[in-house]
Amino acid sequence: MKRRDLIKYISISPLAGGAIASGLANAAPKSTPIEVAKKRDLFSELGVRTFINAAGTYTAMTATLMRPATVEAIRQASHKFCMLDDLHDKVGERLAEITRAEAVVVTSGAFAALTLGMAGILTGMDPVKVKQLPKLEGTGMKTEVICQKSHAIGYNQALTNTGVKIVMVETLDELIKAINPNTAAMHFLHVQSDKGQIQHEEWVAIGKKYGIPTTIDIAADVPPVSNLWRFNEMGFDFVAISGGKALRGPQSAGLLMGKKDLIKAARLSMPPRGETIGRGMKVNKEEILGMMVAVEEFVKIDHDAEALVFLERIKKIQAAAESVPGITTKISTPVLGNVTPTLNISFDYSKIGKTGEQLRLDLRDGSPSIESVGGKDNIGMTAWSLQEGEDVIVAKRLKEVLEAAVK
Ligand SMILES: *Cc1c(COP(=O)(O)O)cnc(C)c1O
Repeated sequence: MKRRDLIKYISISPLAGGAIASGLANAAPKSTPIEVAKKRDLFSELGVRTFINAAGTYTAMTATLMRPATVEAIRQASHKFCMLDDLHDKVGERLAEITRAEAVVVTSGAFAALTLGMAGILTGMDPVKVKQLPKLEGTGMKTEVICQKSHAIGYNQALTNTGVKIVMVETLDELIKAINPNTAAMHFLHVQSDKGQIQHEEWVAIGKKYGIPTTIDIAADVPPVSNLWRFNEMGFDFVAISGGKALRGPQSAGLLMGKKDLIKAARLSMPPRGETIGRGMKVNKEEILGMMVAVEEFVKIDHDAEALVFLERIKKIQAAAESVPGITTKISTPVLGNVTPTLNISFDYSKIGKTGEQLRLDLRDGSPSIESVGGKDNIGMTAWSLQEGEDVIVAKRLKEVLEAAVK
């Protein structure tokens, strides 16, 4: 009997169908969909390379792994419906307590937090203005955001998405002169604060003096954990942080923290409301709850103990590299941004026959694949994205790759 005929036969003959079905059931108990799903290895099914991440929290490398409690929050959230705004309200209250901000809303990342926060500053609670963004001309909305020149390193697009233009200043004098009736905000980038002439407190004080809201991007600036509240307490009108870097929340989540009225206004540009510039910056209930739990977990852990673990791991990798002739290494911890022990490996090319770049490719192409960072002549590694035991694997592979390159 051909397959097509068999199907026809089964469908018109309940008895035969039943007999065949029960025969099959006896032969092999049928897996439930969840059992089937658990057996799949989706990355290898698709042929997508996965790797040990000795690089760090880079978006291109999917940045971070969520903690088990965060994944559980996402699983739980996926079983229930709720009203999106109700969830935003309650989660915001909980996060405001932890971060000592007047109010918080979970956004689809720090970039979205910057855009939405700026939208809130521009529109206030005016629904007509919300709809007009990013058109500012002739609307009565302000049009300029002041920023220190050294702070303009790539993320200001999040602000200009609202239609504002960036006015660059360097000195205090230039800042005061730049303030005018069109000034919507004064924006600060924490990770570049050592490069600018004006520091946080002064920035906030001048904003207060002239009645200009001050805003800050601290996307990659925990640890230290205290940065979660430091800038809220300092008086910035809004603070934007990534959820998907060291906080280990969902990678497409972040927080907009700040003054109550501002967060309320920012939410006018957020889903579920449409006809807004933020309609595409949706955060689902899973990410909202995942983000909340990620922050709860982050403030609970012993950061000093964790820092020691990272240091021990990176030292193990350093020792393996140092054992090869022609290799120089150094561990240092950045003071601003990505504050974690960072190993730099450089080469004496009279002894090593490959460039840093080629060696990084060797690590990538090996098994298991390992990602690192660096320029043409160095390899950079951190340990904060390594899982238990991966430091040993990285140390071993690195030594192999380096030894193979010795002239
Ligand atoms: C990572 C980063 C962002 C973007 O954060 P997302 O959460 O990925 O949107 C913005 N600003 C700075 C300084 C960053 O490092």
